Amino acid sequence: RAKASRRDGFKYFTKELGEHVERRQHLEDRLRASLDAQSLEIHYQPQVNLDNWQITSVEALLRWRDPDMKAIPVSDLITVAEENGSIVELGRWVLHAVCEQLQRWQKSSLPPFHVAVNLSPLQFRDPGFLEMVREIFAQYDVQPGCIEMEITERLLMDETESSTSILNALKDMGVLISIDDFGAGYSAISYLRHFPVDILKIDQSLIQHLPSRREDMAITTGIINLAHNLGIKVIAEGVESNEQLDFLKNQDCNAAQGYLFHRPVSAANLDKLMRHGYWSQPHPSSVPH
Ligand code: C2E
Ligand code: MG
Ligand code: MG
Ligand code: MG
Repeated sequence: RAKASRRDGFKYFTKELGEHVERRQHLEDRLRASLDAQSLEIHYQPQVNLDNWQITSVEALLRWRDPDMKAIPVSDLITVAEENGSIVELGRWVLHAVCEQLQRWQKSSLPPFHVAVNLSPLQFRDPGFLEMVREIFAQYDVQPGCIEMEITERLLMDETESSTSILNALKDMGVLISIDDFGAGYSAISYLRHFPVDILKIDQSLIQHLPSRREDMAITTGIINLAHNLGIKVIAEGVESNEQLDFLKNQDCNAAQGYLFHRPVSAANLDKLMRHGYWSQPHPSSVPH
């Protein structure tokens, strides 16, 4: 009996592994095809300023166009692209798409806002990275101040020297720098002294249990105070409830992003939203007077 179940376990294991390899290969093939065939697009998730309830920025997030592919998480796609090296090309495609759209928006009569783009640490290792950024900005006549680049703590901890000089160069161009998923991983706060950071994005895992988990409340409040004392703005990610929002607003968090406000939307739908310009259903206790 024991033998049989061990054999079953092994069979199960090899089946899983086989599926894993197959799925990975499939994903690699789809990724390669996607870059040629325009089967990816960018959606935009509004970020709401908690002082005036305006949408002052949005985050660009990669999406499959093909409904068949929607079941595959975007983060899996990014992982595969990082592993096979195509992240450099993919990242370039993303910046292109965002800047092209931004140029269109700047010509229409929308209120001003900036767009945050996610960067993989591997893009920083590409020697052509800064040149690529400059070229795309020039091509679409984009003001660098309209672009925020989201980097991860991993980048800051891995390659201090080269990443410092690249970040400084971006900063000199006028690009805003934010740290994504802050508080999720290492959070060695000493690097905040050395890097030109404009915005901290508090990870959604810390926001999720507000305001019932005392430790998470203490850490969130601590991050907000630390950032403000350093002259850095703070945005909370993954805000889903009015209770979370009230807590963050009371702690003077600058902005929030999450399903409570808006899910990521297509460029066309963001256009419509921006013409309203504010979050339309604030919680009664949070409405500015
Ligand atoms: P991220 O940069 O931390 O993006 C936030 C993720 O949280 C997005 O997932 C967003 O859809 C999701 N989210 C927003 N509000 C809520 C909420 O209230 N509740 C919950 N549960 N989730 C919320 P998404 O779009 O699946 O992206 C996952 C990750 O993939 C991103 O995490 C980012 O690390 C990566 N990614 C997405 N687009 C790009 C890209 O263009 N380039 C790179 N390098 N990475 C990207
Ligand atoms: Mg992000
Ligand atoms: Mg994040
Ligand atoms: Mg994340």
